[in-house]
Amino acid sequence: MSEGKVEKEHLVFGGVDVVDLAERYGTPVYVTDENELRTNFRSYKSAFETANTDTDIYYAVKANGNLALLRILASEGAGADVFSGGELHLAKSAGIPVDKILFNGNSKSEEELREAVESNVKVSVDSLDELQTLSAIAVEMRKEPEIAIRVNPDVSPAVHQKIATGLRESKFGIPFYETVAACEEAKRLSNILLTGIHCHIGSQILDLRVFREATGKMMNLVEELYEKGIELEFVDLGGGLGIGHSKEEKEIAPTPKDLAEVILPTFEAKMQSLGINPKLILEPGRSIVGPASILVSKVNTVKQAYKNFVAIDAGFNLFIRPAMYDAYHEVVVANKLKDQDSVLCTAVGPVCESGDIIAKDRMLPVVKRGDLVAILDAGAYGFSMSSQYNGRPRCAEVLVCDGKVDLIRRKESVEDLIRNQEIPKRLK
Ligand SMILES: *Cc1c(COP(=O)(O)O)cnc(C)c1O
Repeated sequence: MSEGKVEKEHLVFGGVDVVDLAERYGTPVYVTDENELRTNFRSYKSAFETANTDTDIYYAVKANGNLALLRILASEGAGADVFSGGELHLAKSAGIPVDKILFNGNSKSEEELREAVESNVKVSVDSLDELQTLSAIAVEMRKEPEIAIRVNPDVSPAVHQKIATGLRESKFGIPFYETVAACEEAKRLSNILLTGIHCHIGSQILDLRVFREATGKMMNLVEELYEKGIELEFVDLGGGLGIGHSKEEKEIAPTPKDLAEVILPTFEAKMQSLGINPKLILEPGRSIVGPASILVSKVNTVKQAYKNFVAIDAGFNLFIRPAMYDAYHEVVVANKLKDQDSVLCTAVGPVCESGDIIAKDRMLPVVKRGDLVAILDAGAYGFSMSSQYNGRPRCAEVLVCDGKVDLIRRKESVEDLIRNQEIPKRLK
């Protein structure tokens, strides 16, 4: 979320007064700013559009799979990186063209592989075993799916271990030393069209050196394959660019332009030396949707105990990042923006778990029941990781744009908690 919106007492987001929004839609509620979303996507497009390189941006649907947001990104020309049959369905429902969808996953079911082949999307193959399975399915379906080999490039980003995916021990991808053999095997197999290689090294990466390392390794692989007579149509370097959450982080957080300056020289040099012209694909998730949304919650109660607790109505049921990744997110009191931060407090959710902490030891204004606490930069891995834990229906989502508001997901009701459950007859 961009700074400098403190013209008045109330937080204004996407041209809309957040206090009015909370009154109209209730809390908790996720709010996404359409302009910010478009701007974030366009900054990738412009950073990677050069005379020599043709780049496609495949948005990572798992970061936020709301259809309205996918629709906006589709209108900007986004493709999609999907990780399940469900995400494939979301991407197609939002109108993302199938020739710009890559089906990822380290544990795809046969059914999912069939869906991918049937839908004519590209498949990122995660193991030699999966390669054989996919070939058999393709022969049976009389199709020839395009595939990429998912490479584990064995680089170590300095991020939380739960979000590093390119480490040697990570469950994702084919080990680097086996990738050439895997590509050769793919070439031999019937009904498999090897067109790319793919890696994704982790998430929330703020130090770009690992991207440099991974790009170097991937481009060397392109060369090795070229020398063996395998020419690729695309190189997919994944997502993972981090965003600034705290004020200090915001100052150092790299932009897509910074990322382009790390990737493009290596990419283009290798293309030139080999005289080939593969497409570059990137799969950002967080850096596109993260800063575009806030989660607005209401204070249910305050308590002075060993700590000052501010208990809000959104917990890890709706926003699990602080509990799961120790993620830091800025919080503001949306109806008291001009009040002095004077109390050290900890914002906690309503879930029956002591780990349900949203913001630990923060300076906030004096807060009372009924005040609104907005969690900033909450658009990525927020709603998409929500649950109904503790019998809490999921909240609504709204889209704001230049002062206009649209509901993009109704809040669930208690009916949704029991919708698919059955009590056996003998218990009735
Ligand atoms: C999660 C994921 C992404 C997106 O990562 P961000 O950190 O949100 O940019 C991209 N590609 C793959 C394969 C992923 O698993």
